Amino acid sequence: VVEIRGLCKKYGSNVVLDHVDLDIEEGDVVAIIGPSGTGKSTLLRSINLLEKPEEGTIRINNKEINLTTRSAKEKLELRRYTEMVFQQFNLFKNRTALENVMEGLTVVKKIKKSEAKRIAEKQLEKVGMGDRLTHYPRHLSGGQQQRVAIARALAMEPKLLLMDEPTSALDPELVSEVLVTIKKAATEGNTILLVTHEMNFVKNVANRIIFLENGKIVADGTPKQIFDNPDNERLKEFLVKIH
Ligand code: ATP
Ligand code: MG
Repeated sequence: VVEIRGLCKKYGSNVVLDHVDLDIEEGDVVAIIGPSGTGKSTLLRSINLLEKPEEGTIRINNKEINLTTRSAKEKLELRRYTEMVFQQFNLFKNRTALENVMEGLTVVKKIKKSEAKRIAEKQLEKVGMGDRLTHYPRHLSGGQQQRVAIARALAMEPKLLLMDEPTSALDPELVSEVLVTIKKAATEGNTILLVTHEMNFVKNVANRIIFLENGKIVADGTPKQIFDNPDNERLKEFLVKIH
């Protein structure tokens, strides 16, 4: 469903993404791994146009969009197909859990309030937050806030769900509830591209792993291929370091 071609991003003379090509099939759960500073976040942010790449196109939902586009219409369209879950949850602080999930439905998708409320309640139920609908973010734990953020993203029915280290900001005891939620989203057929350091989760939930180094995809395979038979020296070094 998603084809990314020739994605390049520089900061000054620092080449962060170097002609990245990436195809993602419907229902794929693709994990991006790699050393710090290697361009993982930049890749996700470029796909969602939170960064402005120098070059690159994306084909999504049978529509090709230039990632360097200045057209507000195209930007909106691309953002409608992709949703992002951030490390720091990024919920609206002055809105309840329910209002956070309803926001995109009413403002972006122009769904009427009563229907948006129904969809939001259903999504919050699904992530186990059905009893916290009227709570504000400050009255929720980090794990609960992240589950609201995931419900908010899923409510928009994105063609591609992007997640950048969704459990890295959490206290250790809250990590698993969020991983369970992501796993559920994966088994329900959502197409997911995520950056994570949770290698056990990657092994068990991702069907494909990409090793990114210095802005290039240097290995791409199933968890078995990547962990049991790494055929790239840099990947081998990386896997030794993280274990
Ligand atoms: P980490 O695992 O630490 O999150 P990452 O793989 O996500 O790392 P990125 O955040 O994508 O790495 O950063 C890639 C490179 O781009 C780094 O060298 C970083 O210093 C640089 N970079 C990122 N954002 C900016 C910016 N706004 N201005 C200048 N350089 C930036
Ligand atoms: Mg990052």
